Amino acid sequence: MKFYIQSRNDDLSNRLRETAKTYLVDFGLIFDEENPDIVLSIGGDGTLLHAFHKYKHLTSSVAFVGIHTGHLGFYADWKPIEIEKLVISIAQKEFEVIEYPLLEVTINYQHEEDSSVYLAVNESTVKSPDVTLVMDVELNGKHFERFRGDGLCMSTPSGSTAYNKALGGAIVHPSLEAMQLAEIASINNRVFRTVGSSLVLPKHHSCLLKPVKGPDFMVTIDHLQLLHKDVQSIKYRVADEKIRFARFRSFPFWQRVHDSFIDSDLEK
Ligand code: NAP
Repeated sequence: MKFYIQSRNDDLSNRLRETAKTYLVDFGLIFDEENPDIVLSIGGDGTLLHAFHKYKHLTSSVAFVGIHTGHLGFYADWKPIEIEKLVISIAQKEFEVIEYPLLEVTINYQHEEDSSVYLAVNESTVKSPDVTLVMDVELNGKHFERFRGDGLCMSTPSGSTAYNKALGGAIVHPSLEAMQLAEIASINNRVFRTVGSSLVLPKHHSCLLKPVKGPDFMVTIDHLQLLHKDVQSIKYRVADEKIRFARFRSFPFWQRVHDSFIDSDLEK
């Protein structure tokens, strides 16, 4: 089996990377940055996002496993002291793969036939670079509302505990193939009106954002942020591709939610 290790690049993460690499090579695994079967991400959830985007062209074959060197993470749920146990499991066990939904983002431009297509693990947000964002929101080809405000955030189920949660969106179990549209500071008064609640859309639905004001937008895909010029529309749907995680033990999603947001026995 071929492996790669992505580190957050702090001292502890780099030391753990070297330890894990030495053990895995001793066990006969092959270090292969180009075409790994398994990627260990050592750092935080942000490190896993970086690792995914490095290998997004290998979504159907690569599996991720995360070790957290800070607080407990959603994608990084192994502790540094468990590194030997994890390495032995990787070397000796057939692992189970669990898959989480991804978000597909397609940006069309006014004077171009080509569009940009991205995959997000957590979410994609749209903001206007300098003025209030004004976007028509279409659901399944039908006008739903005209949004005015700071921005819109479309998240995956596993990303629902990230930016989406800070916006008051619901936490969605990653076994549900869905995406969630949350508002970022919408303007609501007697003249302007939006639904106000987050919308959870199933896999067979699509959401199209059509600019009303200004053709240039800041669009984020997880940690990546780009200014897109002359945007005609931004389409969101649940992607056909999924992110794959190598699972060596059970750590239920709601337990991770509890340990991250309520009380963590793990970190006491
Ligand atoms: P960052 O600003 O360094 O990290 C943002 C925080 O989000 C980190 O604490 C990170 O955990 C955590 N996080 C990432 N994915 C998560 C998930 N699925 N569930 C719960 N927490 C999660 O930025 P970054 O490391 O480049 O990560 C980009 C992410 O930051 C975006 O995808 C977005 O979700 C999040 N973000 C959040 C807010 C907000 O909450 N107001 C605003 C902007 C962006 P680790 O420390 O373990 O890496």
